[in-house]
Amino acid sequence: MREPIIAIDGPSGAGKSTLSRLLAERLGFTHIDTGAMYRCVALAVDRQQLDLADVAGVTRLCDNLTIDFLRTSAGQTVHLNGEDISSAIRQPHISLLTSRVAAIPEVREAMVAQQREMGQKGGVVLEGRDIGSVVFPDAEVKFYLSASARERGRRRFEELRLAGQSVDLEQTIAEVEERDLADQGREHSPLVQPEDAVLIDSTGLDIEQVLARMLDYVAAKRPQGAGA
Ligand code: C5P
Repeated sequence: MREPIIAIDGPSGAGKSTLSRLLAERLGFTHIDTGAMYRCVALAVDRQQLDLADVAGVTRLCDNLTIDFLRTSAGQTVHLNGEDISSAIRQPHISLLTSRVAAIPEVREAMVAQQREMGQKGGVVLEGRDIGSVVFPDAEVKFYLSASARERGRRRFEELRLAGQSVDLEQTIAEVEERDLADQGREHSPLVQPEDAVLIDSTGLDIEQVLARMLDYVAAKRPQGAGA
């Protein structure tokens, strides 16, 4: 029996990235950050100054992108056509552009196909917005992570500040809310909580507490004898 596919969905700043990374490390699974993939498309669109209304151009661009996740001693890095763009894709203007790029059905189709290819063998943690609902609706384990918009904005603010970016707290909270609206309101694959997902509201919980809950749940779903 193969190892499970673990789907982690939820809004921006709910702790998905940190928890997906830790969960994958603890289980020895591959971590696939699907948000980073959409961010790569947005970065390429921005660099090439493509008009988002030019769907054929954006689709062509997607077909020519090679996105790789590499494990280094400093953690996971994201590479676009061989270039390490891990920091470049986290800039606030790229975050906002990403939500617009991710609303284009042709972009989603291209990314979902790559994600299925990467995850189909199991033993993976995929984080995103539509993993349990669209990419792997049959995933053995589905989590939906959430927290209040204020708390999520505060966390994102701290992350950006620590990364040396000059940011404003209220502005960051407003951007988180703006992205929530865009992600939940879009026509194609909006952010939804799958009915069969385990809901974890992390407001007021620390990372270790949430991780422990997730690990307990996953242990019950793994093939017998695995991870012992
Ligand atoms: O998770 P992260 O904040 O890096 O995602 C950036 C953006 O990519 C999200 O705001 C969302 O618009 C989009 N996204 C998506 N579907 C996914 C992952 C991310 O639409 N599976």
